This record gives sequence, C-alpha cells and structure tokens, in this order.
Amino acid sequence: MQCAMLDILRCPYCGGRLELVTSMCHRTDDRGIQEGLLGCHCCIFPVVDGIPVLHLQPAAIAARAHLEAGRPALALRAMIGLDDEAAAARFEAVASCATATYRDLAESLGEGFEGGYFLYRFSDPTYVVADAVVRAVARTVLDGRRALDVCGGSGHLTRSLLDLSSGPPVLADLYFVKVWLARRFTAPGCEPVCCDANAPLPFVRGAFGFAMCADAFQYIWTKRQFVGELIRAIDGDRGNGAVAINHTRNAQAWSPSQGQPLPPSGYRDLFETLQPRLFGAAGLFSDVVSRGVVDLARRDPEQALDADPGLTIIATRHPGVFEPHTVDHPRALRGTYRINPLYETTRAGGRLQLRLRFPSEDYEAEYGGCRHYLPEETTVDASLLQALEAGGRPPALDELIRRRVIVDLPVYYY
Ligand SMILES: [Zn+2]
Repeated sequence: MQCAMLDILRCPYCGGRLELVTSMCHRTDDRGIQEGLLGCHCCIFPVVDGIPVLHLQPAAIAARAHLEAGRPALALRAMIGLDDEAAAARFEAVASCATATYRDLAESLGEGFEGGYFLYRFSDPTYVVADAVVRAVARTVLDGRRALDVCGGSGHLTRSLLDLSSGPPVLADLYFVKVWLARRFTAPGCEPVCCDANAPLPFVRGAFGFAMCADAFQYIWTKRQFVGELIRAIDGDRGNGAVAINHTRNAQAWSPSQGQPLPPSGYRDLFETLQPRLFGAAGLFSDVVSRGVVDLARRDPEQALDADPGLTIIATRHPGVFEPHTVDHPRALRGTYRINPLYETTRAGGRLQLRLRFPSEDYEAEYGGCRHYLPEETTVDASLLQALEAGGRPPALDELIRRRVIVDLPVYYY
C-alpha cells in the first residue's frame, strides 16, 4: 500500500488515524508498506503483502500474530485462507510463477472459487451495463477525486475506474484473496483494502468523489449503515460526489440469487440525506445495448421497477448525472485483445470461424441476454486479428470489439 493511503484510511471501530508501528517488524519499499502493523487508538491491524487488513476476523488475528513473530509468508497463507498445508503449497507454487494466469490461480484455490464463470465476466450482460453506468457516473462526478469500489471482489469493475480515478481507485472487499488477485491481474494499480462491509468503512469522511457497490448489496445485512457509510465516504467539501449501487436484487421479483434483497421502496428508505434514483436492469440494458446510451434521465415507472429482478440505485446532487450519457469505449487498450472465450474457434484458410458456445445451461439461463450483442456465428480475418494482437487497431475490427466478440482482457487472464 502506498504510504499516502494512511491519509484516507481510518480505523473502522474508533475512527482513529492509522500509523505504521515502526517498533515492530515491518518492511517498506518504493511501493509503500509491504508488511507491518498499523495501530490506532484501539487496535493493531496487519498489512499483508501490501494489503491492509482492517477487520478482526480470525484470519486477520492469525495474520497479525504471524507478523508479530516475523513470519510474513505465514501471514499471507492465513489471509489466503488455505488451511491445508498441501493446498497452500500448491497455491504458492503457482503464485510464484511470473507467467501464471488468473485462471491458474483461481483453479489452484479449488473448484468453488468464483464459480468458474469469471472467464466470461467481461461480456456478461450485468457487467456490460454496470461498466457503462459506472463509467458514465464516475466520469461526470470525479473531476480530480478518487473512486471507491466496495465489495468489488476481484476487481472487474475497479478496472473500469482505473483511467477515471485521480489517485488509484480503492478496491475494498472482505475476501483477501480476491483483492490480491485484482491487484495482480484484473485492476493492476488499484489500492486493495481488506475490510468488512457490515462494519463502518475504514475511510476518512469525504475521501472519495465516487463510491460504488456492484452485484453484492443484497448480501449486506447492515444495509442502512452501509449506505450511510458510502454517503460519508463521498461527503467532501464540494458536496457533489455520487453513490452507485449496481444490480442489487429486488425483493418484489423472483430471482435465483441468495441474500436479503429489499423492495424498491425499501432501498429508497435507506438514503436519508441524499435523494436516490432507481433504475430497472431491463431499461438500462436496452439503452446501453440498442442505443449505446446510459440514459440516467429515464424515469422507470414504479410498475417496471417492481417487476425487474435487478435494480441500480444512484444518489448524487451533481447536476450532470441524471442525463443521457454516450457509452464510452476507451480507445486505449487496458490489457490484451482476445477472442471472447464464449466462442469456439475454427480456422478456415485466412479466416477464423467463431461459434457462440455457452459453458453450461445455468450460464445460458442467467446470462443468455448477451445474445443481443454476441452473434451466434461470425468470422474474423486472421491477419487483422494478428495485427490487433501485435498492438495495431484495424478499423475493420471496431465493430467486433464494440460487440465484445473481441474483448480487452487483463494480461495473463487465462
Ligand atoms: Zn481503532
């Protein structure tokens, strides 16, 4: 973690400033604090492999004890959460390889990790909409300020904030291994923080211009406190930051997902000091995919909101947010262009023939909406693809990139 993070981090429990305890074992380098202990008025928190761990769950306590005893490798093992010696050794062997991919590491964590669908995340319909919404709002409000992604998991949407945030965007999640993967692969350059979203957030008031939580809000039990915390995080002098809660489940509409969703009126009631606007997933999806617009001027009728299983909530006083925004596709490459892994590819002469193939019926049931932009079959000129992979940008491929047949994926993703 960069040392400058100490200016925005605060203890979640006493609110006190955190300082590196220099009398105890620590290691710093040009990237900042790599290992050490952070102290406030009430607690000592470990920094493990450059990531502050600002909660008191058993893994954090174990990691702290390892650091106090001068065993940083075991502190990392405790936070990765592999109790079994052989499993931990397997993970560490893969992690130490410079060319290991996100997929290699995810597989070494066991079959259950991320459900295996992370490969397709960058083209799934909820991501496509959330990416467009997040970029539209963040681009409008940030204006030299920093962005925060809470419950951001392994950083797929933090990646959307990398070129918009002034100062690296902060990615916060309870699962250490996810933010650790995000920093290495998905959102390189972000500042990961391991913390519990059911507790007060470990940041100073007004540290951010934009604070978001995507695909996770229904799992947070302390929703009222959490919304208050997001609002506190953007409560700066200018008074025009924004909070975005993307794709939270709607208690009024059936969906296969777990958690404790609220109805639209329940979500509205959580915002006491800032008037929120709610958007149904269906309307946003249709605007983004059919018109290339994030239309935040739209007012979904209550009936439409009640019937929509996924809701997006935006709260801000910024006058520029509730307007139509053109979906921006950054020209600058973030990672590396590859054929979308949902396609089966066969080569015929100088062309590649692509055929859409879903990994499972479950995937198709949940994300089949991607058919609106991913064609069943298409072809790509192999020499153009080669030129693209070599760093060029043949205009003939723009449409395939826009439709996410060719995707900009993190380097070493799979
Ligand atoms: Zn404290």
